[in-house]
Amino acid sequence: MDKDIEGGATPFLAGLAVGELRYARCGACDAVLEYGASLCPACGAAKVVWVRASGAGRLRARAIYHRSYAAGLVPPYAVAMVELEEGPRLLARLAEGAVLTPGMALRASIEDGSLRFLAA
Ligand SMILES: [Zn+2]
Repeated sequence: MDKDIEGGATPFLAGLAVGELRYARCGACDAVLEYGASLCPACGAAKVVWVRASGAGRLRARAIYHRSYAAGLVPPYAVAMVELEEGPRLLARLAEGAVLTPGMALRASIEDGSLRFLAA
C-alpha cells in the first residue's frame, strides 16, 4: 500500500485525522478489501480506492491488555477485532469501561484522530 501514502499518512490515518473511518475497495471490480490488502482477491487488480465507512460494526473478539505495548497506552485497556458492516475487519481500541460481548453491535467514535469503538 505504499503507493497510497498521502502526505506522509496512509488514507486510513488521513481519514481518522478528519473524523472519517475509511476502508478499501477494489477500483476495478468494487470488491471490499481487507485492511492491508494491495491486490484484489476477486480480480487481481492492484487499484485500491479508499471510501468512508458507516462506522457501524460487530464485535468479533476482544482482549484486555495488562501491559503497555506503545507509548500512551496505559494498562489495562481493551482491544477488539471489529467487523465493519461493509465487511472488512480491523483491530481497534474499545471505549474504557465498556462491557462487550462477541457479536454485539458497535459504533466507531473518532476524537482527535483516535479511533475507539463503543456499544451501539
Ligand atoms: Zn477487484
